[in-house]
Amino acid sequence: MKKIIIIFAIVAILVLGIGGSYLMSYFFSGTNYASIFSSIINTKPSILVLKSSFFKNDPIAVSIAKGNDYLLSDSFEHINSFEFKLLSAFKQLGFVGLGYSAYDGQSPVSGAVNYFRKIHSIRASNYLDKKTLEFLDKELAQREINDKKVATTYPPFSKFMDSPINEPPKEHLAMLLAGLFGSLPKNITSFEGCHNVWTVEEFRDSLSYGLGGNLGRFISEDSTRYLTPQEYNDLISNNQTDFKYCNDLYYSANQLDNCLTPALHVNTQIMSDFDYIYTVTHEFGHSVAFNSDNLTDVSKPSGICLFGGISFVMDSSCPAGHVSISDKKRVDNNGEFISEYAKTNQDEDFAESFSAYVLAGDVFRERAKSNSYLKQKYDFLKNNVFDKREFDTGGLERYELWNSKHNSLPNVVRDYFTQESSWVWDYKYNILKQSKWFF
Ligand SMILES: [Zn+2]
Repeated sequence: MKKIIIIFAIVAILVLGIGGSYLMSYFFSGTNYASIFSSIINTKPSILVLKSSFFKNDPIAVSIAKGNDYLLSDSFEHINSFEFKLLSAFKQLGFVGLGYSAYDGQSPVSGAVNYFRKIHSIRASNYLDKKTLEFLDKELAQREINDKKVATTYPPFSKFMDSPINEPPKEHLAMLLAGLFGSLPKNITSFEGCHNVWTVEEFRDSLSYGLGGNLGRFISEDSTRYLTPQEYNDLISNNQTDFKYCNDLYYSANQLDNCLTPALHVNTQIMSDFDYIYTVTHEFGHSVAFNSDNLTDVSKPSGICLFGGISFVMDSSCPAGHVSISDKKRVDNNGEFISEYAKTNQDEDFAESFSAYVLAGDVFRERAKSNSYLKQKYDFLKNNVFDKREFDTGGLERYELWNSKHNSLPNVVRDYFTQESSWVWDYKYNILKQSKWFF
């Protein structure tokens, strides 16, 4: 009798617990007990298995994955802090709001986390919970797969030294540079005949000319010291020295020339991927301008004189010195410059226009519609530098948002995109379909 009661009780618990019809369907379809049992197990809260290399071995991330909510601090200046690591994660997903300025002086930590939550319809909170981490980890893991794929196609990647702790891995940085240089026409030529910084040799040469100091610096093959002047010379003149590459702008801990001993406390204005690539594009624009080969297709003299002559009174020594007397031809000139900084002189005009052409093609074309001088600049770049390739980049949304809040030009082109923290770069350099737009 006791046995019957116990069996009855077990059956009753099962039926009440998981539903009679559910159980019956298993019996009638001949399903085994193990699968019923596992379906019961799966309804219990599970431990999140972290997929990204970035978070996988981090003790705080592992603890959150077990269900322990983590109270976020505002402070992220120490490179070992979980908050700094979090911002590095958002950096790899294209976020631009990584500094205090993006959140009106508030810490970007909760700002970025809660903007990420908003995208995923998760309620804002001061804690980092398992659900938010799950989304973040998943997107990062996908990013890592893509980055690795792109990095291995980029020859200079073999020269990259490892990234500082808790910053984006070197594969990610390689993806950034490969993305930019891979999107430019193959025959684009910069200073001293370098092409679009794709081969190890082009990378080495660009590194020595520095792209305005924004690409980074050489260190020894074993990443333990800087090159001696003799080694540097051997490397530049005959490529007899092997080297590794350190980026001291992109990585917060390497700024202030700390390639060998990364800083423990970082600058509070963390550079976003878009900021970095914008800077590299601007500087590469300068080096393209210094190479007159690109710019002489239309006719001699040198193209920078032709380009500069659109808005500036050029000195009679042009083309030899590429100089202007920096006088602008017109006083009412907002419409003919892509940014305030472009008004500095013809070189900055070229570099700003160059970066806008690549990263904000949509904005450049929209603005060129209402100013014939700006249109001349766009056409100059299109025909003489970009081999008629045009970019469907930037998007008019941020430009319109800017216009709704400002009556002035942005100081630099990237301000259209980075003044508002709620923008995420998609890393794409879509080529404009020719049918979509005509001048
Ligand atoms: Zn410049």
